[in-house]
Amino acid sequence: MSTVAVAWDDRGLVPVVVQDRLTGEVRMVAWANQAALRHTEETRQATFWSRSRGELWVKGATSGHTMAVQEILVDCDGDTLLYLVDPAGPSCHTGTPSCFFRPLHDGEARASRAPFLSTLTEEITARRHATSAKSYVKSLLEGGAEKIGAKVREEADEFVRAVAGETDERVSSEGADLLFHTLVGLESRGLDVRSVLEVLAKRFGTSGHVEKASREKP
Ligand SMILES: [Zn+2]
Repeated sequence: MSTVAVAWDDRGLVPVVVQDRLTGEVRMVAWANQAALRHTEETRQATFWSRSRGELWVKGATSGHTMAVQEILVDCDGDTLLYLVDPAGPSCHTGTPSCFFRPLHDGEARASRAPFLSTLTEEITARRHATSAKSYVKSLLEGGAEKIGAKVREEADEFVRAVAGETDERVSSEGADLLFHTLVGLESRGLDVRSVLEVLAKRFGTSGHVEKASREKP
């Protein structure tokens, strides 16, 4: 097994982008030196070099919001790493899932900050707790498994009819309805789309072990 050379900068560091391996959400960016990378590979816990404290920093060591590293990638010219992780809890110290929640310019579309399915899941959760009486999602959730179940069956039926003989637009539209109501069903049980992606990833054989991204000597 050959190892890709990491192009450490003149401080012996490289930036590390951290991405949720299932949702694709970019969680944070931090720095690693060789010791941080080695520690990450050995423990599978995302570890960085804190430039402000001048010490190794195991993400979540104090907050409990750790990141289990499943794979490490190196970019084309070797000067940036990508950790693909399963995050436990929010990744930002502000309590948000990702550090990237601020649009550069005020008034930019809020929905663009996270992968769309994650944003949609958050929106469904938010509507559950909405105070306005007129939320469709809220009424479904209040109707419980029976009401949601009836809707999922109806949408599944419309979807398979579309697949069998309707236009591509109809298939996409009914697929969207089915997926949306499936998300509502998950929400009714306090689950999110990530739990489903996790099952799919397991079934389709992601190896889930840390690649040996760097074994070079200083
Ligand atoms: Zn942050």
